[in-house]
Amino acid sequence: MTDEIFRQDGYLFNFEAEVVSVKGDDVVLDVTAFYPGGGGQVCDTGSIRDHRVTEVRYEGKDIVHVVPGNDLEKGDMVWCSVDWDRRFDLMQGHTGEHLLFCSLHRQCPELTIKKIYISPESKYVIVDRDLSWDQIRAALSFANQAIRDNLPVTRTTMDRDDPELAKVRIKLDRIAEDEEISVVAIGDIDLSACSGIHVMETSELEFITVDRKVSAGKDGVAIHFKVGDAAKDAATSLAMSALEMIDTIGCKAEDSPRAVANMKREVELDRRLLKSASRDILSGARAAEVNGCPVLALAVPGGDRNALAEAAESMRSRGGVAALVSVGETLSVVLASGNKAVDCKAVLGDVLKPFGGRGGGKPDFSQGGVPDASSAEDVLAALKEAVSKALI
Ligand SMILES: [Zn+2]
Repeated sequence: MTDEIFRQDGYLFNFEAEVVSVKGDDVVLDVTAFYPGGGGQVCDTGSIRDHRVTEVRYEGKDIVHVVPGNDLEKGDMVWCSVDWDRRFDLMQGHTGEHLLFCSLHRQCPELTIKKIYISPESKYVIVDRDLSWDQIRAALSFANQAIRDNLPVTRTTMDRDDPELAKVRIKLDRIAEDEEISVVAIGDIDLSACSGIHVMETSELEFITVDRKVSAGKDGVAIHFKVGDAAKDAATSLAMSALEMIDTIGCKAEDSPRAVANMKREVELDRRLLKSASRDILSGARAAEVNGCPVLALAVPGGDRNALAEAAESMRSRGGVAALVSVGETLSVVLASGNKAVDCKAVLGDVLKPFGGRGGGKPDFSQGGVPDASSAEDVLAALKEAVSKALI
């Protein structure tokens, strides 16, 4: 059983130990300050004598250090070093997770935590329900005040029958009957059962911010956060993006969320109207006859691409040919044919090339684009000519 120094002192990162066993890359020491990870936090890395420790994990009650290519032997006394920058980042992140969740929980008492992930590259909590940005803003304000107040972060142990346990965030089913319960307190604002490693005072977190909120599928919502310098950099970067967006919209900062929501709604409505108008135009258009084959050739200003594709598909299924052009900032072209004489892929490629455009697809249905929207009538004329030539 390895003596776990990190349980008593998270700040000790250089230590001497005796090698207890070596099996290939796997090395067990009598004592270790390497945290093997757990509860969603990744493990420490570092070195044992000049060899890199790339991974640390539990095997029963032993802690195994993975030391590739080592020449260590049982009985060696070795000098070991935990990568301190990585360790401190993980300690900040882990303590930050306690502080963030308890702050979010104050905004939404029914909130429960589903999963945690703490690594140097990514830190997030997955919670069971979505939170509004106002709730997150209020939680971050509370959390950063707790950082300014420099609250102590302390660890105690409790028995399963301790009445005080009722005040602790805990998942008892994850703790063995005979295991002592380690409880971490942040001042008087949070009590949480946890056997991980934490900083000693909240001021060591410096600053905490949320930088992303995404769906985590059936688990709920992942709230990504950053702590310390990474949080300050993320906050500055997000503020600059927001200011650029506000400048583009031309509104006051406090009005921007509502302005963007209104714009999104308007764009969605315009798209629906455009689709409906495009369908009306296409259904009212008459197909010409070329050698007994109906050919529908039409340029639709601002035509909805899905409506064009539907109309083209309808012509194809009736044995006809459809050459449809949507005129926007560029041209979108659809060519569909239910007549074997017209190879859409070949025709579209040949016609669009002189206009600097490209197309692709299948012989009975192809789509393409042309960068210059002013060439719409010329493109349509060239398509009609190529289709007629193929049909005669
Ligand atoms: Zn913890």
